[in-house]
Amino acid sequence: MARQVCPICGGQGLPVEKTTVICHAKESAWPISDSRYYICESPDCTVVYYSPERCLTKADVKARVTFKERSPPRPLCYCKQVTEEDVIGAISKGAKTVDEVIEATGIGGGGLCKFTNPYGRCCSRYYLPFIERALRQSSLKT
Ligand SMILES: [Zn+2]
Repeated sequence: MARQVCPICGGQGLPVEKTTVICHAKESAWPISDSRYYICESPDCTVVYYSPERCLTKADVKARVTFKERSPPRPLCYCKQVTEEDVIGAISKGAKTVDEVIEATGIGGGGLCKFTNPYGRCCSRYYLPFIERALRQSSLKT
């Protein structure tokens, strides 16, 4: 089955459940009809969710979708409400490993990603690479 592409940017989206779309859509974007929904992963595209029938843009969505934002706060873990800025702050205060960053920030393990994360997926696949990259960058500076 061919994946539906974003009608605005033409990028390949990732499928998301309707439940996830309902959790993030503003009331002004209701009703969220039964359909197949996707999340557009292009950082520069204003579309967040789309279905064969319609698009929901950033203006229709309550959460800040990290990869579509350039200014803080950029959420990494929606269950525990931890941002990229929190991770960088923990590292600057002395966290040296991924485990130490996790302990200092409380990131991860919320278990509600289907509802809280606009991706509808576990946020570890996004925050672990970010923490590793941030640790590497801080070790280069010292
Ligand atoms: Zn798009």
